Amino acid sequence: MPLVVTIDGPSGAGKSTMAKRLAKALGWRYLDTGALYRALALMAFEAGISAEDGDALGRLAQSVAIRQDQAGRTWVGDRDVSDAIRTSHIGAMASPVSAHPPVRVALVDLQRRVAADGDLVCEGRDMGSVIFPNADLKVYLDALGAVRADRRYQELVARGEVVPLDTVRLQLDERDARDQGRAYAPLKRLPDQVYLDTSDLSQNQVLDALLGLVEDCRRRVASLQKNKNQGGSK
Ligand code: C5P
Repeated sequence: MPLVVTIDGPSGAGKSTMAKRLAKALGWRYLDTGALYRALALMAFEAGISAEDGDALGRLAQSVAIRQDQAGRTWVGDRDVSDAIRTSHIGAMASPVSAHPPVRVALVDLQRRVAADGDLVCEGRDMGSVIFPNADLKVYLDALGAVRADRRYQELVARGEVVPLDTVRLQLDERDARDQGRAYAPLKRLPDQVYLDTSDLSQNQVLDALLGLVEDCRRRVASLQKNKNQGGSK
């Protein structure tokens, strides 16, 4: 059985960066589910569909072929949208777009199918609660609001987008409030998640912590398997 590690948490906690690095270090598959919702928001924006029109967005989600390749790039059909989905505008639109149940339902299978192909690190808001409730390891990655806003700001600057830090912070707070407050698949901390506050940690320190958790998880799963096999051979 492939192992599944879920990483959930608020915007700017470092989920994408760390999930990608963890998957690379382990040689596992990686799924950035925020990119799927961003790709749908981009398609809706280009088609002139309102972020409030849940039915039209649900139909759009059923009709477009969104996928992610193993280099971490996001595609809609044969168009590489990886860069276009990273603007602050599309990020802000992805939040109301993703709150509609028809949208989320349309993307469930796409997300679960990836785990059939091998060990997986995935990240988002509802990975441990809805998509992979039986994941082998669930992590909630967090950081102080100011730290998360600064990380997102640096990311946008590196991409050449100039947005004042205050605006980034406001947008982030607004998105997190919506992601946490929505009725369907909200972002929330779960009792079976390992909580990791990355505010004062470097990327390498976070990676070490995650690798340690995966190692513990592997041992636990191997020991459960051994007990099961011994029980079965009696
Ligand atoms: O993580 P990222 O900022 O790329 O996600 C963009 C938006 O997509 C989030 O603000 C959130 O509203 C939504 N999202 C979600 N469920 C996920 C991943 C992302 O609702 N599993």
